[in-house]
Amino acid sequence: MSIFNTTPLSNPTIDLLLETIRTRRPQADTTMVKLAYEFAAAAHAGQMRKSGEPYITHPLCAAITLAEMNLDPTIIIAALLHDVPEDTAITIEEVRKNFGEEVAHLVTGVTKLGKIKYRGIERYIENLRKMFVAMAEDVRVIIIKFADRLHNLQTLEHLPPKKGYRIALESLEIYAPIANRLGMGEMKGQLEDLAFKAVFPKEFAWVRGIVEDRYAEREAYINEVKNEMEKELTDAEIPFISIHGRLKRLYSLYQKLLRHDNDIEKIHDLIALRIVVNNISDCYAALGVIHKLWRPLPGRIKDYIAQPKPNGYQSIHTTVFCAQGHIVEFQVRTQEQHLNAEYGVAAHWTYDEAGVQKRPPRNLRWVQELASLGDTIERLKDLDDLKIDIFQNRIFVFTPKGDVIDLPENATPVDFAYAVHTHIGNQYAGARVNDAIVSPDLPLRSGDVIEIIVDKTKKGPNPDWMKFVKTSHAKQCIRQYTKHSLADWLKMVVPGRKN
Ligand code: MN
Repeated sequence: MSIFNTTPLSNPTIDLLLETIRTRRPQADTTMVKLAYEFAAAAHAGQMRKSGEPYITHPLCAAITLAEMNLDPTIIIAALLHDVPEDTAITIEEVRKNFGEEVAHLVTGVTKLGKIKYRGIERYIENLRKMFVAMAEDVRVIIIKFADRLHNLQTLEHLPPKKGYRIALESLEIYAPIANRLGMGEMKGQLEDLAFKAVFPKEFAWVRGIVEDRYAEREAYINEVKNEMEKELTDAEIPFISIHGRLKRLYSLYQKLLRHDNDIEKIHDLIALRIVVNNISDCYAALGVIHKLWRPLPGRIKDYIAQPKPNGYQSIHTTVFCAQGHIVEFQVRTQEQHLNAEYGVAAHWTYDEAGVQKRPPRNLRWVQELASLGDTIERLKDLDDLKIDIFQNRIFVFTPKGDVIDLPENATPVDFAYAVHTHIGNQYAGARVNDAIVSPDLPLRSGDVIEIIVDKTKKGPNPDWMKFVKTSHAKQCIRQYTKHSLADWLKMVVPGRKN
C-alpha cells in the first residue's frame, strides 16, 4: 500500500507510453499513437514548460495517465494533440487531415474548455455550464481534460503562486466533484489531494501527519487481519482475487474530520480492507464470513450492490468490531465493480480481458440530464441549488411500483412528487411513506416507498413549500407556478394591465 503518490513522472518518454499501452493490450496497434506523438513534438518544438522541461512532456504525461486507465487509442491520440491548435502554429484542420474527424472533435472540445479562465463565482457558473455542455456532447473531452489537469497540478510549484492557487481551487470546486459524479474515484481522489495541498497547505500537513502516525501504528494489525481473512475465505471455499488495505484519501479524510470534531478516533475507515472476488454471490458469501467472525456495528452495513450510488458505485461496506476490539471497515466487490469504482464512466472506453473494445453506451442518460441542468443556471441562487443537486449525497427512494427515484439527501415528499411529474407536484395533496401518512416536509430516507395523493381540483402548489423543498426542479416549478398565478391575479384585479 503506497501512501502518497503526488509527483509527476520524472522522465516521460514515448516508449513509456507505448509500453504502458502494450502491457495492458499486447496486440494493440500503436502506429497512430507514435505518429501523433511525433506530430505534437514537432508542433511544440522549442516550447518549454515553466518547469524548464520540453513542452511535449505535458501532453505525454496526460496520454500516459489515460493509457494507464486502459483507454482506447483515439483518446490517447487526442490527449497527445490537445494543446496543439491552441498553443502552436498548427491548426485544427491539419490535425483533422492527419488524424481524422473524431480526434479533431475531441481536441476541439478540450480547447474550448480551456478557454474559460476561472475568476470568482460568475466564472464558476460559466465554467460549470461549459463543462456540462461538453459532457453532453462527448464525455471523453472531460476525461482528457482531467488527465491534462492532473499533470498541471503535479507541476503546480513552477507557476506563480496566485495562478497555482486559482488552478488548484478550480480543481477542488469543479473538476473533482464532476469526476466524482462520473464515478471516476481514482481521478477524483488524485485531483483532490493535489489541489488540497495547494489550497490548504496547513490543513494538508496536519491531516498527512495524522495519517502517517496512524498508519505506522496500524499497519501490522491490518496485515494480521488480512491474513486471517485470507485463511477464512479459503476455508469457506470462496475464491478471491485480492485482499488489500486501502488508505483513505487525505482530502476526503479532512472533510470527514471536520464533520467529526477533528477526532480521528471517530473515523473508522481510515484504513479499510478491500476484498475483490469473482462474482456477486461471492460478495455476499464473503460478507457472511466477515459477520460470522466479527460482530458488525449497527447501521453500518451498506449494500451498494443492491442499491448502487447514483454515480454507479457498487460494493458492500460493513464495519465490524474486529480482532482485539478494533473497529475495521471492510469493502467487498467484484473485479468489474472494482474497475468501475476506479474509472467510472471512463471504463466505457476501455477493453475487456480478451482485448475487445467495450462498446460505449449509446446515451448516458444521466449525463444528458446533468448537461441539461447547465441551461438552468442563471443566477447565483440557482447555482447553490444546483451544487446541492449534483454534489450532495444522494438517496434512493421508490414509487409504489418499484421505480427508483434519485434525490438529494433530506429531500421531501414534495421533491419526490415533482421528480415524478410536474403535475403530481402541483396537485400534491398528501403523501404516504411506507404506508404512513406524513407531512410534506418530512426528510426522506433511502429505501422509502412513497405514494403521492393528488387532488385533481387543486389550483397549484403551496408557496410555503419553498421553505423546505431541496431540489432545484421543485423550486423552479413552484416559483414558476406562483409567478404565473400572480400575473393572472393581477390581470383580474387590475384590468388592462399587461403582466
Ligand atoms: Mn494542457
